[in-house]
Amino acid sequence: MPAIYLVKGRDKSVRRKHPWIFSRGIAKVEGNPQLGETVDVLSHNGEWLAKAAYSPNSQIRARVWTTEPNQDIDLGFFIKRIKDAHLVRQEAIARSNLTGFRLIAAESDGLPGITIDKYDNYLVCQLLSAGAEFQKDVLVQALTEVFPNCNVYERSDVAVRKKEGLEERVGVLHGDAPPNFTTINENDLKILVDIKNGHKTGFYLDQRDSRIESMKYVENKDVLNCFSYTGAFGLYALKGNAKRVINVDVSQPALDTAKQNAIENDLDISKKRAVFLNADVFQVLREYRDQGTTFDVVIMDPPKFVSSKQNLTSGAKGYKDINMLAMQILKPGGTLLTYSCSGLMDTSLFQKIIADAALDAKRTVKFVERFEQAADHLTDSAYPEGFYLKGFACKVL
Ligand code: SAH
Repeated sequence: MPAIYLVKGRDKSVRRKHPWIFSRGIAKVEGNPQLGETVDVLSHNGEWLAKAAYSPNSQIRARVWTTEPNQDIDLGFFIKRIKDAHLVRQEAIARSNLTGFRLIAAESDGLPGITIDKYDNYLVCQLLSAGAEFQKDVLVQALTEVFPNCNVYERSDVAVRKKEGLEERVGVLHGDAPPNFTTINENDLKILVDIKNGHKTGFYLDQRDSRIESMKYVENKDVLNCFSYTGAFGLYALKGNAKRVINVDVSQPALDTAKQNAIENDLDISKKRAVFLNADVFQVLREYRDQGTTFDVVIMDPPKFVSSKQNLTSGAKGYKDINMLAMQILKPGGTLLTYSCSGLMDTSLFQKIIADAALDAKRTVKFVERFEQAADHLTDSAYPEGFYLKGFACKVL
């Protein structure tokens, strides 16, 4: 098997089971490994440390599959990893009777570069690393053995594949193509998921817990749901007897699904109780502020603004601006439910950004509750980067 030798001192993180080996940590490559091929990882003096997938085009030059010397990277390996991932989610799945959940959270489940969401009997895969692509056939075989009744669909249409030297790919990997919509249950709500054309694998499963917690703030309130996507937070608000919900997103297909979701759940959206507004959130917030339009509750769940360390400052500014605007349109005593899915911005920095926004908005802000990604988006003790989603409930005076 080809091998990589680490620079002296760069073995520490591998010994601590962190899965990433950066190009600058590699002293020597032996045996001409191909894109995604499995290599032995050795310390500078030849001590065996791990088996990893080789990624010649990426800064993350190798991703560790295992630190067990006798473990082959074969069908049995993938079956074990998938079963383990299912096992550690058992309570979360049973507790909420989930029919849609994250089955494999990549590095956090010992399968670097592999994300798999299960929507009813569809397993939707996003393969983001050369190693994941190299192992695709055996991965699909393992999935069909563990879930014999499931279809497997690929949604690897993500730009980061380029960094790994891979083309974007979508399509059936096993069984049937997904229908236009697959229905999942989430906390007694029915949610339509467009596996083929939706964002990522189709739905933002990670906000499940925050959504149910949001219900306690909405009864008889005027709610603005910013970055609504398919309206999930808005559905909870309607179910929680909000007076009115305005969902704002720039994606018309997402808004169409949001409306359909409300109808499927028999929620009353007559007399403009629910509005589905195709608009830019930044612009809408400014307009409301300038017109003096106010709300009791603002939900702020934007896309990831910080995609690399280089744009941390500009991303932070984006978070500050939208949260400042949200505070400015809240009635005194209103609630801001605000989230950040930027892993590179930790909770304390996010809290500081909200504090800055409060100063600029000239409002007094009290943090009353904290939120995190749902339990199926677990994190491995050796891979703290797996924690990315945080949020606050704030009362604004
Ligand atoms: N809150 C959603 C997930 C939001 S994902 C849920 O619970 O499912 C982020 C959404 O923001 C996407 O749907 C995207 O279309 C939308 N978006 C991105 N930039 C936007 C902008 N400037 N204005 C409005 N929507 C935007």
